[in-house]
Amino acid sequence: MRKKIALIGSTGSIGRQVINVVNRYPERFELVAIAANTGGELFQRQMSEQKPAFAALRAEGETPCGVPAGVRFARGEGAFEEACAYPSADVIFVAVTGFAGLKAALSAINAKKVVALANKECLVAGGEIVMPAAKAAGVKILPVDSEHSAIWQCLAFDRGAPFSKLILTASGGALRDVPLGKLSEMTAKDALAHPNWDMGAKITVDCATMLNKGFEVVEAMRLYDAPLEKVEVVMHRESIVHSMVAFEDGAVLAQMSYPSMEVPIQLALTYPERLRANVAPLDLAKISALHFSAPDPARYPCFTLALECAKQGGDMPCALNAAGEVAVQAFLRGQIKYTQIAEIIEKTLQKTVRRKAESYALLEETDGAARRTARSFLP
Ligand code: MG
Repeated sequence: MRKKIALIGSTGSIGRQVINVVNRYPERFELVAIAANTGGELFQRQMSEQKPAFAALRAEGETPCGVPAGVRFARGEGAFEEACAYPSADVIFVAVTGFAGLKAALSAINAKKVVALANKECLVAGGEIVMPAAKAAGVKILPVDSEHSAIWQCLAFDRGAPFSKLILTASGGALRDVPLGKLSEMTAKDALAHPNWDMGAKITVDCATMLNKGFEVVEAMRLYDAPLEKVEVVMHRESIVHSMVAFEDGAVLAQMSYPSMEVPIQLALTYPERLRANVAPLDLAKISALHFSAPDPARYPCFTLALECAKQGGDMPCALNAAGEVAVQAFLRGQIKYTQIAEIIEKTLQKTVRRKAESYALLEETDGAARRTARSFLP
């Protein structure tokens, strides 16, 4: 029996790699539904090549011409949600970016579907409602973020296994070696030149500021039910160790490979089995040295702000995510300087009054309010 996958966010960087895995193992996997925010040539091609039973676009608009026979196409919020809870799917692969991932994951959970989760915002903004919902529905959440997949592997796929510390590694991003005084001059192009990973624009900037690592701390807390004290971040510039778990007896297990999202993406679909992936065998003798050090707060103020939100919990990580999105988009447009990303996030958080994350509606409200506040600080 082939595993049936509904892929939410099929045209993004992760979505495209999910399709690579499906194409590599057609005898094991079948794409039954694909969904994306907006259409375009790539989505069109995915419809004709993959021939999913259902294809949905979130944005309203015209039906694309040339929907292949056997593919049902629909658009709008309702259609998108239908894909997120697609009846015949075994796994809902949530690879869409942004706050939309939260709603997508909740729809999948309500439909009692296994969720392969590559969307960060879901756990950052909504982890306090998503994890209890998944638990109540008896739904498995499979981590796809490379750090959280690494931890999952070190825990032998047992998310409830005891540990004394989760140690996330951070590459430091594209601007890690730029002198502090020069950071304000850095452009989007500079911040997007990530040394190790090839990803979308928003997340690549988040790697440079380490806001991404802050998000991942929150993700780890939610996925592994860990207090902030049990999550540590170390700088590791080679991106070979994807994260580690320390145990009570002093043993530390690490998961290593060349940086590629293919390993965590494929593993979420094949686990507990491991199949050949398109990743070169690790040649440690060639790498010769792996480096670790503590993060520098002066270089990464966004990371410090994120840790503060992680500590506060409630809807603060949700406000952090919203402010970050507004600030980074403004930076990518060339509207603000690199160093203003942290300033805008900080000012927005100062204006946010923490509330308990009790429902999706409340988080949606926080998200909207934080976006408006952040925008008010843009030049
Ligand atoms: Mg990651």
